[in-house]
Amino acid sequence: GGWRVADGPAGAEPAASRQPPAPFSPTTEPLEIIRWALDTYPDLLMPSAFNLNGVVLLDLAAQAGYRGEVAFVDTGFHFPETLATRDRLAARYPQLTFVTLNAGAHPDDGQTGPTLYASDPDACCAARKVAPLQAYLRQKAPPALLNARSRDQAATRADIPFVEEGARVKINPLAHWNRQELEAYARAHELPVNPLYWDGFLSVGCWPCTRAVRPGEDARAGRWAGKGKTECGLWAGEGRL
Ligand code: SF4
Repeated sequence: GGWRVADGPAGAEPAASRQPPAPFSPTTEPLEIIRWALDTYPDLLMPSAFNLNGVVLLDLAAQAGYRGEVAFVDTGFHFPETLATRDRLAARYPQLTFVTLNAGAHPDDGQTGPTLYASDPDACCAARKVAPLQAYLRQKAPPALLNARSRDQAATRADIPFVEEGARVKINPLAHWNRQELEAYARAHELPVNPLYWDGFLSVGCWPCTRAVRPGEDARAGRWAGKGKTECGLWAGEGRL
């Protein structure tokens, strides 16, 4: 019988004791979750690809008092509309610092060659997307990340909690908002949503790997369609953030 203290690195506290338990119900407002996150992890950071979810989260985070960096990875394959959306957001939220990682990357810059996305999209995402963000996070070492994923984006995201433990704590304040709620918020606040969104690109990634979504499909069904891939590796799978 008896009990023993769980093993762990010397000096490390169990994750559960690092912060007060999150006082959330299944319907807690995103703004309240973000305020809790900023109180609990003042040095958190926010990577974003400026999709509908990301733009809504950005607006809410600014309202909640976030004044940190917003990190965007330039893969070299973004649609011009995506880069323009980033620029409109940067103009709208001067209190935030917009950081473009891998700035100026070009499709044939020698990093991965021009067509690795076709032959090995996992390797292409690993080099162009995951590696630059990992390097940035290693340097900044934030205790937590604000993340815009929601459960209704894809079957694989159906169980996302508000607070996700992992290599880094991820706070997902929009986990329970569906697409209609996000669109209503964006319209009510006249947010600069990527214009491709309204053309059916419900989740916009790189142009070689994104198509418009057909009626009835998941929001992310247009990402890597036909390539046997559903995530870039930032948020799911081995080596995720
Ligand atoms: Fe490469 Fe496509 Fe991944 Fe963009 S989404 S990094 S083009 S594989």
